[in-house]
Amino acid sequence: MAKRVGVLALQGDFEAHQKALQRAGAEAVQVRTPDELNQVQGLVIPGGESTTMLRLLHAANLMQPLKEFGETKPIYGSCAGAILLATDVINPSQESLKLMDIGVQRNGYGRQLDSRVVQIPTDSGDMEAVFIRAPIILRVGKDAKVLASYNGDPVLVEEGRHLVSTFHPELTNDTRVHQMFLDKIA
Ligand code: GLN
Repeated sequence: MAKRVGVLALQGDFEAHQKALQRAGAEAVQVRTPDELNQVQGLVIPGGESTTMLRLLHAANLMQPLKEFGETKPIYGSCAGAILLATDVINPSQESLKLMDIGVQRNGYGRQLDSRVVQIPTDSGDMEAVFIRAPIILRVGKDAKVLASYNGDPVLVEEGRHLVSTFHPELTNDTRVHQMFLDKIA
């Protein structure tokens, strides 16, 4: 049976993630309420604008339910989603779910490099990585595993059941990152 996975659909490129999850064989649904969150086995937090997403998460009463969800179920955070999962956020600092022991710097590649597409090496071969006003992962905790790096910075990291990327695999046809996430769902 297909795994039922949610995509947080308050802001950002949630539709692209929904399609990517479907391409990877999952049943993917949009999540906007605590009730909808209760009905999925894993959740993707998409890219977008993390400050706006935080504000909308509070408005939807989703902060505490998300923290609890992440204590037992897998979450994949892409770009702004990675910022929300991190323990420490700088530039500027802001509240986060603290579900992964990583530290991130928002807009870490600077304004002159707003967006770029590069090839990054992974265990399963090169992968096209789209960066859009991406954060830099400055620190990873001892239980985190770096799965891919770019220019010496981690860009794809897992810690236990959770996964983050600072790039946007949902904007390519490569389903490996979404597949990796689905593999974490029991
Ligand atoms: N710069 C955004 C932020 O800080 C993240 C960008 C993205 O998700 N593509 O929230």
